[in-house]
Amino acid sequence: MENCIFCKIARKEIPSNKIYEDKDILAFNDINPAAPVHFLLIPKLHIDSLIDVQDIHQSLLGKMLSLAPQLAKEQGCENGFRTIINTGPAGGQEIFHLHFHIIGGRERLPGMIHPG
Ligand code: 5GP
Ligand code: ZN
Repeated sequence: MENCIFCKIARKEIPSNKIYEDKDILAFNDINPAAPVHFLLIPKLHIDSLIDVQDIHQSLLGKMLSLAPQLAKEQGCENGFRTIINTGPAGGQEIFHLHFHIIGGRERLPGMIHPG
């Protein structure tokens, strides 16, 4: 995707603070962190959002999910972290290239849901 900001980051046309890369996946720190640890995990393949995921993407998404705890641990989140996937305009998504927010490093994290 020509003008997608995360495709541009994946192509290194825009710099990012990269923490992980392989042939399919990139992880980099969020430019506006909501907590001491806040990085984004993206597929290099452009997929607009979770709504657009199809069966052919299953192994890619599985790989991203299993990578998340490994990278979170490396970033200092041994005791856990929060994974947020904002999906679509009503889900608060601003960048339409699928991404997982991995957030941690303090006790109370944004987006926490508590009963009652
Ligand atoms: P969304 O609301 O789409 O789930 O989240 C998009 C996230 O991307 C936001 O947390 C925002 O701070 C981050 N972001 C937007 N532009 C850039 C950028 O150019 N570089 C990096 N590292 N993060 C970005
Ligand atoms: Zn893209």
